[in-house]
Amino acid sequence: MAKRNLNRRQRWRIEKIQAERRDRMQRKAEKEQPVATTLGEEQWGTVIAHFGGQVLVEARDGSRTRCHFRANLEQLVVGDRVLWHPPHSEGTGVVTAVEPRHSVLKRPDNYGNLKPVAANVDRLLVVFAPRPAPSSALLDRYLVAAELSGIEPVLVLNKTDLLDDGNRDHAEHICALYRHLGYQVITLSAHGDGHQLASLRAALADATSVFVGQSGVGKSSLVNAILPEADLAVGEISEMSGLGQHTTTTARLFHFPEGGHLIDSPGIREFGLWHIDEQELLHGYRELSERAGHCRFRNCTHRHEPGCALLEAAQDDAFIHERLNNYFQIADTLDDEARARY
Ligand code: GDP
Ligand code: ZN
Repeated sequence: MAKRNLNRRQRWRIEKIQAERRDRMQRKAEKEQPVATTLGEEQWGTVIAHFGGQVLVEARDGSRTRCHFRANLEQLVVGDRVLWHPPHSEGTGVVTAVEPRHSVLKRPDNYGNLKPVAANVDRLLVVFAPRPAPSSALLDRYLVAAELSGIEPVLVLNKTDLLDDGNRDHAEHICALYRHLGYQVITLSAHGDGHQLASLRAALADATSVFVGQSGVGKSSLVNAILPEADLAVGEISEMSGLGQHTTTTARLFHFPEGGHLIDSPGIREFGLWHIDEQELLHGYRELSERAGHCRFRNCTHRHEPGCALLEAAQDDAFIHERLNNYFQIADTLDDEARARY
């Protein structure tokens, strides 16, 4: 208990130091780039990049303006819809309000504090491949995170050109498992022709998406295949920030030529499960949480109790058996993850 209190206090101090640093950065940026004294009419826009004390806001007409934000606003992230005033001439605009977010992706910062990194994401593209060998336990972690964030997950099996007699059955099993649960599964090769990419393009249209998945599964390759200008856009945005190269590691929002948007950054691609308990974890398993209401005991742990609806279902259904095992496996690591953050 004492340890926890101390940690809270430490965390509070760290947050205070961070807030002070943010304020300092903002004041410094304002000195270098004075906020225009006369501002244009208030309008809606989208935050497409974020650098220290400023954000880059895209207006409806596609024009982009660097903006400061009022200190009373919550921390702005890429994907936020904001009310802002453009500057009349030179200088920066000002963001005055943020629309409530319909979803938020969060990650812990270096101090273990959970911070939003992207807002209003509609779809999480969970990429896997024959190599590195996929595991449903790892994919489940992304799916649970998506379900708990209110974001629709879509699975993408990439590198189908690498399927052979040694790995095909396993890959097909994983596709079958998730299709059985009602998730959309797309199969393709980033190195394939445009025809192969059509199903991916369709899944991305009219939505704001984020790619996630293990390193090496081909996320960069897929992004480059469908958004060849992404690299160019990175350079352009770092230039506009005037803050140098380090800004390229923060999240950015890109537009697909066929419609739809991508929010991407190295940090976002590896976002995971944070600060959740076993109860929440179960909610991320749509078919398990649905059945859990039928267990004989209200406080069933689903591990050994008689009349457990999950254990019974797992006996008849190999897919549920696998998912329940993954659930136990992840549940066992939740405490370790919580400890590792302190
Ligand atoms: P990331 O870490 O998920 O961004 O993965 P990368 O896009 O960097 O890809 C990792 C490696 O897999 C690279 O050597 C890619 O060329 C390769 N790769 C990506 N997509 C495919 C594919 O569809 N087929 C094959 N054979 N290799 C691929
Ligand atoms: Zn049970």
